[in-house]
Amino acid sequence: MDTLEAHAAGCVGMAANMIGEHKRIIAVVDGRKRVLMYNPVILESSGRYETEEGCLSLEGERTAVRYKTIKVSYLDKDFRSRTKQYSGYTAQIIQHEIDHCNGIII
Ligand SMILES: [Zn+2]
Repeated sequence: MDTLEAHAAGCVGMAANMIGEHKRIIAVVDGRKRVLMYNPVILESSGRYETEEGCLSLEGERTAVRYKTIKVSYLDKDFRSRTKQYSGYTAQIIQHEIDHCNGIII
């Protein structure tokens, strides 16, 4: 969360393994909030599309396949189990960061 804050000007999401923590933790911008997710899992996705994305870990942009709407389960910052539907840009950020957890950089 601190690293996301420090890069707020050009970064909308972080995965823990980007900063050397080999754990499945992501932090994402959701509108005006920042959301922390432990062990995020995408349960459902719909509305496949192709887009261009950039990443703090790369120069330039690459093509990525994303889904407009996703349902995600995760543990929140207090380790409470949550299942929530996201769409649009926030959904895209979550998919990008979960890819990081899986060793995929766009
Ligand atoms: Zn990235």
